[in-house]
Amino acid sequence: MLNISAKTKIIGVFGYPIEHSLSPLMHNAAFSYLGLDYCYLAFSVRPEDLKQAVESIRALNLVGVNVTIPHKERVLPYLDKVSRQARLIGAVNTIHNKGGKLIGYNTDLSGFLTSLKQAGFNPKGKKVVVIGAGGAARAVSFALSQEGVHSLFILNRTLEKAKSLTKMVKKSIINGVRPAGSDPIIEALSLRKKELIKAIERADLLVNATSLGMVPKTSQSPLAGFGLLPKNLVVYDLVYNPAETKLIRLAKKSKGKTIGGLEMLIQQGAKSFEIFTGLKAPLEVMRKVMRKAM
Ligand code: NAP
Repeated sequence: MLNISAKTKIIGVFGYPIEHSLSPLMHNAAFSYLGLDYCYLAFSVRPEDLKQAVESIRALNLVGVNVTIPHKERVLPYLDKVSRQARLIGAVNTIHNKGGKLIGYNTDLSGFLTSLKQAGFNPKGKKVVVIGAGGAARAVSFALSQEGVHSLFILNRTLEKAKSLTKMVKKSIINGVRPAGSDPIIEALSLRKKELIKAIERADLLVNATSLGMVPKTSQSPLAGFGLLPKNLVVYDLVYNPAETKLIRLAKKSKGKTIGGLEMLIQQGAKSFEIFTGLKAPLEVMRKVMRKAM
């Protein structure tokens, strides 16, 4: 149990709804383990109250906050400074109050890449399919393009959003946010079975960046109605609740390698922890408490 006093430093998370968030559990476990006088709270912030909530970070002298659905994109105009990466992605998930200046970061990108490489997948030169074009898909697509993939197919239910994302990623490549070398093939497609089959056929990695399969609708899958998948296909599902989604089960049945979303959640949280405290995050402690909670 944390000992709250008048000196305790406060960090929080803004979201709506927020009751399901595991961030307080993960961060408080880390503070407790390191003996830090910090406390992490969840704030239910309605979209219409976001501006005042952000102003309150300064007014209440909070150390900072994490930002989750549905505020990650809408929060940008209320900040004093936004990191280059977060501006590129167009989404902020971490706000640090640095001496009264509110600075926005995106730790989803590095959280995704760290977890991907940790699972033994190096994206350089690989053929990748990303399903989704929301905030998470944006972080994933920029991350992969920066790592020099061979090709990136982005499929989304709303094709216009996939097209706009491919445009943004291509523009970032022209502006040099990627290692030198030949440019990747980047294409937007609709989320239809015919397009999916074609995209998956020769892919090395498939990333689900939609909310399909997430609790409470665990019977959903972006590959509903698919038989077996190519056995060399690595399947990464960003959904972390449940830990084993319908998509992950299909990939396992196909004898392919699978990566669940929990490690990305831990890695992005660890990066935020380091921004807030300036200290190295106790990853094992955070992992243990999150695995137990799942
Ligand atoms: P978002 O911005 O709201 O985007 C949602 C995406 O899902 C959109 O591409 C949307 O397509 C698609 N989608 C939703 N319902 C669908 C349906 N019935 N059929 C087809 N497509 C559907 O959300 P987000 O922030 O990107 O998050 C997406 C998922 O990633 C969530 O499950 C979230 O928990 C997970 N996530 C995990 C981590 C992690 O650390 N593991 C981090 C961030 C996010 P349209 O554009 O057509 O609406």
